[in-house]
Amino acid sequence: MARYTGAVCKLCRREGKKLFLKGDRCYTGKCALERRSYAPGQHGQGRKKPTEYSIQLRAKQTARRYYGLQEGQFHKYFVMAERKGGVTGETLLQICESRLDNVIYLLGWGNSRAEARQLVTHGHFTVNGGKVDIPSYLLKAGDSVGIRGKSRDSEKIRQVLESNASRPVPQWLDLNRDALEGKVTELPSREQIAAPVEEHLIVEFYSK
Ligand code: SF4
Repeated sequence: MARYTGAVCKLCRREGKKLFLKGDRCYTGKCALERRSYAPGQHGQGRKKPTEYSIQLRAKQTARRYYGLQEGQFHKYFVMAERKGGVTGETLLQICESRLDNVIYLLGWGNSRAEARQLVTHGHFTVNGGKVDIPSYLLKAGDSVGIRGKSRDSEKIRQVLESNASRPVPQWLDLNRDALEGKVTELPSREQIAAPVEEHLIVEFYSK
């Protein structure tokens, strides 16, 4: 599936929000959004009154870009969330959060979601003891993830672990840093999800 390969900082500037797509750089003064907090392009600094549609569209795009998902996949998750019942917007974010690449990132085993996705496809991780190299794999409460034996010696994995050694892990995940194992203790509630988005706008966008 085609992936966005352009400059990711432009995506944050377009949405006017930090989407944390570049790892460590996002937490420094080098962040492009902090330097130029207006949309990219010739008309980026122009003032245009947002319409109801454009506000909903931006909310959907923000969530999609935050998780690094293509439109088709994101819409599929929306349909899944609708079928599950409950609060559709919250369930949608819960599904996105439970993707294997997202959990790997949150455990500090990837500097960004994009890097976590790449490391997953390279087969560095296990789920419940078996190798899984599918970034979209959806984890459930009680599932455990780990770093494969030979991957623990990989220079890349060691670098990533070192640079994220002090990054806090969300409460719904349990990380054993010594054993290099993580567990999904429960699926996250909305308060435990950091996505900078008003999910009800996404529901309104797709419900038109
Ligand atoms: Fe976004 Fe990170 Fe780039 Fe800042 S440094 S604009 S948060 S991707």
